Amino acid sequence: MSDAVISNYSRIIDISQPVDSTSACFPGDVPFSRNITVSYKDSGVLNLTSLTMSPHVGTHADSPVHIKGDMSENEGMASQLPLDAFIGPVRVIDLAPYEGGITAEQFLSKVAKLETLPPRILFKTCHQIRYQVWEEKYAFLTVELVEALQSKDVKLVGIDTPSVDHTESKNLETHHKLDEFNFVWLENLDLTKVDEGNYFLVAPPLKFVELEASPVRAVLLA
Ligand SMILES: [Zn+2]
Repeated sequence: MSDAVISNYSRIIDISQPVDSTSACFPGDVPFSRNITVSYKDSGVLNLTSLTMSPHVGTHADSPVHIKGDMSENEGMASQLPLDAFIGPVRVIDLAPYEGGITAEQFLSKVAKLETLPPRILFKTCHQIRYQVWEEKYAFLTVELVEALQSKDVKLVGIDTPSVDHTESKNLETHHKLDEFNFVWLENLDLTKVDEGNYFLVAPPLKFVELEASPVRAVLLA
């Protein structure tokens, strides 16, 4: 992005969750861990690490192969997610505090009086993020909401909870509806420092050619 774009904004708001060995993850998923392969103390030259984690730890984007297809075919991987969807004007909608399925009605009533709507929508549902705690209850997107977002030409949707689907969803119907409409989506955002309004989102995924999701460093320019 050019300096000209950045200079239109005066503030960078970090909307990413920290990633460390205490970060919560989906029950049964692989948490972050670090292995120090070379230490400066021993080598006198450098510190070097390797890491292990599910790409769904912390703030991240899922790619289509997360919910369909064959991992050996390299189709729908994180590297193929469209960058333009992750960079550009965005609207933050504040529903906090809210648990449960976000409805089309909630979304449509929030945007009814707006003259224009950016093609990216982030839902704030928490006043506090406890990133080290696996929250049993959290807000998610309903299928009818995804249809309403589609009708407004939205292409990216994000939420400050671990999943776009209900925690007990077995068939991940919201993930599938988003994929059907060619949406991209962000999970595990931290919007606690953000008020409702329009911003500029920057949150590209890493170019992981063999993964079904990627961490992002998500920021809003204000
Ligand atoms: Zn995910």
